[in-house]
Amino acid sequence: MTTSSALLSVKDLRVTYGPALALQNVSIDVPNGSALAVLGPNGAGKSTLARAVSGLVPAAAGTVAFDGVDIVKRPPHRIRQGGLVYLPEGRGIFPTLSVLENLRLASGLLPRSARREAIARGMEIFPPLAARRGMKAGMLSGGEQQMLSLCRALIVEPKVIIADELSLGLAPRAVELVFESLDRLKQQDVTIVIIEQFVHRALKFADRAVLLSRGQVAWQGASVEAKNEVLARYLGDAATADVA
Ligand code: ATP
Repeated sequence: MTTSSALLSVKDLRVTYGPALALQNVSIDVPNGSALAVLGPNGAGKSTLARAVSGLVPAAAGTVAFDGVDIVKRPPHRIRQGGLVYLPEGRGIFPTLSVLENLRLASGLLPRSARREAIARGMEIFPPLAARRGMKAGMLSGGEQQMLSLCRALIVEPKVIIADELSLGLAPRAVELVFESLDRLKQQDVTIVIIEQFVHRALKFADRAVLLSRGQVAWQGASVEAKNEVLARYLGDAATADVA
């Protein structure tokens, strides 16, 4: 894969928190329209990678090219405006507002004339949200709340969505709903990067995977080539926990 074909291209990225090295020599290409799973044990640097790419923590060295432009020194709001949306851990919704109000707030970033259509399209892609449009978001199930979070991200017409542990703490059925929602996004040709604890489910969803260990890339390749022994070596029990 060449860098020029990648929508997002991270090269030799290094991130430090004070004296602590969180990422070093991390190089990853994410082709347009593809899905990448970022895997690794706790503290491996997965969230740091997402934060650095989104401009939320500074890079000590290296480059991040998004759509051919180096964004490594750009402020987060400009990166977001450019179409790279980071969904941090947690739900990122307003629980006391209705589903529709949540979508309306997200659509506020779009020109006024485009908002209504963007919300309608979002609800078309996620029909359960249309059926619950008047319900307070906090009353939705955990999986539906993540669906709302993804729908909010989608209606601003992103090029890339980076989703950090969307399925954290969810029951198995809700995890399935999250992956169904991600599949729907993928069908819209949105490029997706997921950070996931459900390793096998993530590999089934993603085209490619990168395994981080102690701030470095331990392995990367096609998801179908992620061999159990490689996963087990870096992830231990987590590599086999969700084989169903
Ligand atoms: P988890 O699965 O637990 O979220 P992770 O793979 O996302 O882990 P990071 O959160 O990126 O890992 O953390 C990478 C390293 O950086 C860890 O050693 C962590 O303790 C450290 N770290 C993360 N955030 C900070 C911070 N704000 N200040 C100092 N050190 C941090």
